[in-house]
Amino acid sequence: MKKKPVGLYIHIPFCLKKCGYCDFYSLPLQSPAQLQSYTDAIRLEIEKLATLFSDSIILSIYLGGGTPSLLGLEQLQSIVEAVAYNFNVSSNAEISLEMNPATRREGFLRGILAAGVNRISLGIQSFSPEELRVLGRVHGYYEIMQSIEALHKEGCQNFNLDLIYGIPGQSLESWQRSLELAVSCGPQHISAYLLQLDESTAMARAIESAQIELLDEESENAMYHMALDYLPEKGFRHYELSNFCQAGFECRHNLNYWCGRDYIGIGAGAVSCIGRQRYRNRPFLKEYLMSLEVGQEAPVEILEQMSAEEKMREEIILALRLCDGIDLAQFAARYQLDFRERFAVEIEDAEQKGLLKLENNRLCLTRRGYFLSNQVFCRFI
Ligand code: SF4
Repeated sequence: MKKKPVGLYIHIPFCLKKCGYCDFYSLPLQSPAQLQSYTDAIRLEIEKLATLFSDSIILSIYLGGGTPSLLGLEQLQSIVEAVAYNFNVSSNAEISLEMNPATRREGFLRGILAAGVNRISLGIQSFSPEELRVLGRVHGYYEIMQSIEALHKEGCQNFNLDLIYGIPGQSLESWQRSLELAVSCGPQHISAYLLQLDESTAMARAIESAQIELLDEESENAMYHMALDYLPEKGFRHYELSNFCQAGFECRHNLNYWCGRDYIGIGAGAVSCIGRQRYRNRPFLKEYLMSLEVGQEAPVEILEQMSAEEKMREEIILALRLCDGIDLAQFAARYQLDFRERFAVEIEDAEQKGLLKLENNRLCLTRRGYFLSNQVFCRFI
């Protein structure tokens, strides 16, 4: 029987310090011993979950966080080995690791590449020392450059740089400089995300109390369009709202999400989506460690039980994030319905506003629609 393709996400929730804009489940690392007990728990969860997914094949593994590069080399190796031993993993699986430039150290990169990690995502966010300070990042320009030098020295052939625009105080010139420097570092992939703040974050509170000010929408729009113009000029294909890559270097793990396929989450706070159910391991470190230590499952909470209609609509929204949009012939075959007929009102309205276009039997966002994508998505909710 053909095995079902899935992605595997492993969450490492520790960070050196909480960044001001971050609303991920992440905790300041208190002691190195925490890393070992967490690694042990992750390995136990891998063993338990693998038995439930024996009919699946893992196409991508993504170690995210938090800051997974805080783990020791042996800890990371043992996690990758545990996945390979317990799950069916495709022989050419993409194995990504998020790295914070502040955690670079001698021999680490060489070790993880040798352990099978074949894609690095370096969270640099900006090249401007002032913007890094505003974001509350623990690294500076020097650590970024050292990390990039190490990536080249160790022969890493597939790395991403994460950038943020819309940072309080950021100018168009400074954003341009970050884009130019990013390209000059020779990555295969660049992510450019608009700063978006949850109200629980320290930065949102600083804005609320008028200590700092967000940029206006016009400036954010100009920055986004600068990336849309500049990166393709330099050979980076715009393939998703916020993602650009050289030919063949799309992030396969994220493509799995955007194509609406199943994914398994491992670790405290990690989200899974299997069929029409989305659930997550509860984001409580102690509870997670204790449950696995005594041989129980990780405590889980259901986030969403979707109807068939809700799942289809979610898949439409995810597919529209991709610049290639929705293949209407494939959609018709999958759902037994004519997309253009079923969503005629939504399409016409968004087309008239210049947000959506129909081309070669595909429905895609327009360039104007990229920045205003939420106005399109809400029509399909
Ligand atoms: S390093 Fe990443 S996960 Fe950690 S606090 Fe900063 S943004 Fe959040």
